[in-house]
Amino acid sequence: MRVSAYPLVDAEAAALLVLERTPVLGAERVPLIDCYGRVLAKDVVAPAQLPAFPSSAVDGFAVRAADGGKSLQVAGESAAGRPSERDLEPGSAIRILTGGVLPAGADCVVMLEDVKLDGDVVTVPGGLRPGQNFHAPGADLRAGERVLPAGSSLGPAEIGLAAALGLADLSVGRRPRVALMSTGDELVEVGERPGRGQIPDSNRWALLAALREAGAEVRLLGIGPDEPEALRRLVAGALAEVDVLVTSGGVSVGTHDLVKPLLESLGDVHVGRVKLKPGKPFTFATLPDGKLAFGLPGFPVSSLVTFEVFVRPALRKMQGHAQLDRPTLPVRLGYEARATADRTEYQRVTLRRDGRDLVAVSTGSQSSSRLMSLAGAHALVRIPPGDHGINEGTIVEVMILSLP
Ligand code: AMP
Ligand code: MG
Repeated sequence: MRVSAYPLVDAEAAALLVLERTPVLGAERVPLIDCYGRVLAKDVVAPAQLPAFPSSAVDGFAVRAADGGKSLQVAGESAAGRPSERDLEPGSAIRILTGGVLPAGADCVVMLEDVKLDGDVVTVPGGLRPGQNFHAPGADLRAGERVLPAGSSLGPAEIGLAAALGLADLSVGRRPRVALMSTGDELVEVGERPGRGQIPDSNRWALLAALREAGAEVRLLGIGPDEPEALRRLVAGALAEVDVLVTSGGVSVGTHDLVKPLLESLGDVHVGRVKLKPGKPFTFATLPDGKLAFGLPGFPVSSLVTFEVFVRPALRKMQGHAQLDRPTLPVRLGYEARATADRTEYQRVTLRRDGRDLVAVSTGSQSSSRLMSLAGAHALVRIPPGDHGINEGTIVEVMILSLP
C-alpha cells in the first residue's frame, strides 16, 4: 500500500470546484419529437397570443348578453374548425360547439343545458353576462410573453405549450457524451457465471441508468483490466468522441488502483480524496479540450452517491439546466443519526407520512457495499462532520431522490 498524496478536500468545496470547471455545452435545434427530457437553451417567447380567436368553452349558443331571457332564431352554426359564415344579428343565436369561433356580434355563450330548444327557436335564460363561457383571445397568454425560460426542462406540458404555439423545434442544450468504464480484474459481465473471487460488473448498469436520468448519451467501454497500459488504450480510444469520462473502481490507495495515475497522465487531477462518506476516494480531473473525468469509487453505494453529489450536477450544468441539484424538503429525522468525525456523510432513508410530517427512516446498514441501503431510498440525509450527529426528531433538509 502507498499513502495517497492527495489532500482531503471538503465535500462541499469539491462539489464547487467540479462545477467551476464544468463547461456549458452548445445548443442545438431539436424537433419536438426528441425534446422530452431536454433543457431549453433559449427563452420561448410566444409568437402569437393564445387563444388566437374567441373560442367557445362549451357546447351551446352564441348570443348577445343583452338578448338574455328572449326566444331567438337559430341562424347558423360554428363548430370547431368550421366557423360560422355569418355574424350574429341582434335577436338571433348561432349554435356553437366547444372550440368553435365566437361569431362577430356575439358576446357570450349559453350552455346547451341552460336553453329550451323548439325547432329553430332557442329560449335563453335571463341574467347573461358578456364574456360568459368563452375564452377571449390572449386570455391564456399574450403575444411576446416569455412562456418558458432558458434552463427549464422539457416535460409534457412544456412540449405541449411549444406545440400549441406552433413551434416545431426548440433550441436545447446538447447532451453530454459520456464514456463509462468499470475497472477491476474481479469483474465479469452480468449474466456470466462468476468464478471464485469474481463478481458481476453491477456498477456499469447502475451508472448507465444514473447517467441517462441525468441526460447523458453513454458510450459503454466495458470492463477495464487492472493493468495500466490496457486501461490507457481503452480510454484513449474513446476520449476523442466524448465530453466526459466516468470510471468506477481503481481510485483507492491499493496497488491495483490505477485510475488516478491514468488521469494524471491524461490531464490535471484537481480532487483525489474528499471528506465524504461514502466516497472518500472520489477523483476529479480535467482533460484537454474542456473534457472532464470522474473517477468514482468501486463500492456500489459509493459510486452512486458520488455520482449524485458531483457528477449529476455537472452533467446538468453542461446541458444548461437552471436547477442543478435535487430538490430538498424539510423532514423529521426518525432515528438517531451518528456523525463521522472528519467526513460529511450522506445517509440513505425512506420517507413515510406521519400526519402532516414526512419522517425519514434509515434504510439500515449504511455499508458502502450494501446496495440495499440505496434501493428504494427516497432521500439522502446530509450529516455534517463532527462528534454530535443529529438527534431523532430534528427537522432536517433532505435531498429528494423520489417521493413515496
Ligand atoms: P476498488 O475501488 O477498485 O478498490 O473497488 C472497491 C470495491 O468495489 C471492491 O470490493 C470491488 O470489487 C467493488 N467493485 C469495483 N468495481 C465494481 C463494479 N463495477 N461493480 C460492482 N462492484 C465493484
Ligand atoms: Mg479495483
